[in-house]
Amino acid sequence: MSGIVPVTGGCLCGAIRWRAETPPEWVAYCHCHMCQKALGGIFGVFASFPPGAFRYTKGEPRYYQSSPWARRGFCADCGTSLDFWLIDDAVPALTLGGFDRPEDWPPDLYHTGIEGKVPWHAIADGLPQQPSDASVFVREAKAKVAAGKSWS
Ligand SMILES: [Zn+2]
Ligand SMILES: [Zn+2]
Repeated sequence: MSGIVPVTGGCLCGAIRWRAETPPEWVAYCHCHMCQKALGGIFGVFASFPPGAFRYTKGEPRYYQSSPWARRGFCADCGTSLDFWLIDDAVPALTLGGFDRPEDWPPDLYHTGIEGKVPWHAIADGLPQQPSDASVFVREAKAKVAAGKSWS
């Protein structure tokens, strides 16, 4: 993918800012109902940066643990959803809407959480579509919880 690097983003009010030194490794849609609720939209778009390339540079999100294996970061001042963090991962996936230039990074991975897709929303981009259960990332996080890993 190509776009302006470093990649920067943050919340609506500016209390939280982040920076990544490299392009995202992937950008993906999630249509699951939890993302719909958490984001207030009918799907989410998330981007992942390599560990070490990403950091929050101003402020820190507040976290809501939405399942035993995932928490979701948001700005406590303005409510912007900023990240989705799977247990024991070094970095979160960032909401593409929080990017300063989301137009630079079109989704390239897949549509996951397809069981939650609203029927009147048509997908026509040719990317693979899969249910949440098929996500390798989520399956690994669930396995860590089953093995006794918990949030510190
Ligand atoms: Zn904010
Ligand atoms: Zn989701």
